[in-house]
Amino acid sequence: MRILVVEDEMPLAQAIASGLSRSGYSVDIAYDGEAALEMAEINDYDLLLLDLNLPKIDGVEVCRRLRTKGSQVGILMLTARSSHDDRITGLDSGADDYLVKPFHFGEMLARVRAVLRREGETRNVIIRSGDLVVDTNSLKVFVSGKEVSLTTKEFGILEYLVRNVSRVVSQEELLEHVWNEDANLFTQAIKVHINNIRRKLATVGEKEYIETIKGRGYLITEA
Ligand code: CA
Repeated sequence: MRILVVEDEMPLAQAIASGLSRSGYSVDIAYDGEAALEMAEINDYDLLLLDLNLPKIDGVEVCRRLRTKGSQVGILMLTARSSHDDRITGLDSGADDYLVKPFHFGEMLARVRAVLRREGETRNVIIRSGDLVVDTNSLKVFVSGKEVSLTTKEFGILEYLVRNVSRVVSQEELLEHVWNEDANLFTQAIKVHINNIRRKLATVGEKEYIETIKGRGYLITEA
């Protein structure tokens, strides 16, 4: 899942971004509203963590413009002020939820997950495909009840595929949702990751969970 953090306080933005990365998300940062709109135009984010008070274009206006253009991206608004007016304005502009600063990192993660569930095709915390179970809270993967240890990136790939169960996901789409802007990757790298995931799942599981659909991408089927 790919997240854009929009926050002008640089240390805070970087702390949020590194925390999210450790939790398996791919993260980009925008330091003002104008940059946020540009980046949201180019990249297909799954969620925006959007500060209310921003240089150039404020968070409420960023939110309004995105929704006016028809963007369905999940938006979690950050506000330093705790007045009801700010929260109402944020939600009225199209944000899915808000978080008052200072916030506990664990609470932020929980809200991020909640907004992603609302957005995603799969609303469950635990996603299953037959005997394959992906727990998006604990970042753990189980096959037939046995835990399979994946790297953060491998987990990100598997989570994205399983969230889009029964739909073929192209390598480009995986690049877009599982890596950030800094990634300078070739699709060959994805093949390597997919092979590693398959190898690890195969140590416990009995079937091929990730199908390769030639010329189109990868597919996890429902059962
Ligand atoms: Ca700010």
